Amino acid sequence: MDIFDYSGNTLFCEKVKIEDIVSEVGTPAYIYSKSAILARYRELKTAFQDVDTLICFSVKSNSNLSLCKVLAEEGSGFDVVSGGELFRAIKAGGDPSKIVFAGVGKTDKEITYALENDIFMFNVESLAELEHINVLAQESGKVPRIALRINPDIDAKTHAKTTTGKKENKFGIDFTEAERIIKQSALYQNVALCGLHVHLGSPIYTVDPYVRALKKVVKFVNNCRDAGLDIEFMNIGGGYCISYSGEKVIGPKEYALKILPLVKEMQCNLILEPGRFIVGNSGILVTRVIYTKETVHGKKFIICDAAMNDLIRPALYDAFHRIWPVNTAIRMPKVENSDKSPLKTGMDLVDIVGPVCESSDVFAANRALPRVKEGDLLAIFSAGAYGFSMSSSYNSRPRPCEVLVEGDRYCIIRKRETYEDLVRGENFT
Ligand SMILES: *Cc1c(COP(=O)(O)O)cnc(C)c1O
Repeated sequence: MDIFDYSGNTLFCEKVKIEDIVSEVGTPAYIYSKSAILARYRELKTAFQDVDTLICFSVKSNSNLSLCKVLAEEGSGFDVVSGGELFRAIKAGGDPSKIVFAGVGKTDKEITYALENDIFMFNVESLAELEHINVLAQESGKVPRIALRINPDIDAKTHAKTTTGKKENKFGIDFTEAERIIKQSALYQNVALCGLHVHLGSPIYTVDPYVRALKKVVKFVNNCRDAGLDIEFMNIGGGYCISYSGEKVIGPKEYALKILPLVKEMQCNLILEPGRFIVGNSGILVTRVIYTKETVHGKKFIICDAAMNDLIRPALYDAFHRIWPVNTAIRMPKVENSDKSPLKTGMDLVDIVGPVCESSDVFAANRALPRVKEGDLLAIFSAGAYGFSMSSSYNSRPRPCEVLVEGDRYCIIRKRETYEDLVRGENFT
């Protein structure tokens, strides 16, 4: 997190003071570091360089055009899950021949749009979808590459709402069904069935679920080859973890060490779909304290101008984000996880909440925080992934602006929404 670091009691992003940015752009504001994004991308690329690897940035983790452009210029491909994300990836300069398309509910319109743009590969999640693609491909005279998304029935030991590879999840095709599809692959003359895909969920803090899933897949790849079908591409999805607490977590090298031997055994080219790993710790959400409030029961609330509509992860997944004042003489602890943080002098135990009319609009409960007052700025760390991209205008709150920092410069890469933006497209009957 050293890209976002304190110097002289004030928080910087790269070489720019956070308070200088927000004095111009206002709050709440998402602030991203370009060099952090590139460093993470390159770290992953280097770790997996032993095999032919295509990195497809997961657009849903952060779909801002300028941010995607940074990655496109670095040579990244994109993982999209809707026609809208495909539109964004292309508009950002993404090379269609490096775009993979997942999702259980691709409509004919979305499939046609992807065919028109000659994307690299469809990650197919059901027999019905395969049949639709086969028909639409014939109509368009194209032969798209297909990877079957396998549901390997592996528990990735992450939050129930972010687990995707268990048999009760809606994602992917189980091995029995996949086997059947392979056997009758001659029926699908208009597609090139040449890949397999697994995405287990997110974030995954050990390499073990990947290893267990891949071991199952290795066998399947061999079965496919015995059936005369060459599997050239193995896509192992995303889910690579980041540290939300400052604790050390495993990184690309550790993942690669265990994953690469299995991919080599399969003799496949590799596709990765990282989202959170690249952008999660590359962005923060800055918010201003509107009020402080203490109840007669002694409970202290810090009410800030960001809310669950801007960053929904705490409300949706009970996710932990570090929060610290932008200006403070008290150093942020190196590691901080939820309720165990020490309460030093000058600090209060507080609930940090937003103005939205929901009891779940809480960023942190019982959190030790240096004492703050009205008008002070707070930084919510590790907010670059699934932050703005999951935001809404619930409570008719205009969504925040987004800012990209590069060295000692910054620019607004998405304007703050206005009241007029909120009602755009609405008509009186
Ligand atoms: C969400 C998603 C990803 C990205 O997951 P991260 O945890 O952000 O790396 C990759 N692949 C698929 C299919 C996804 O749905």
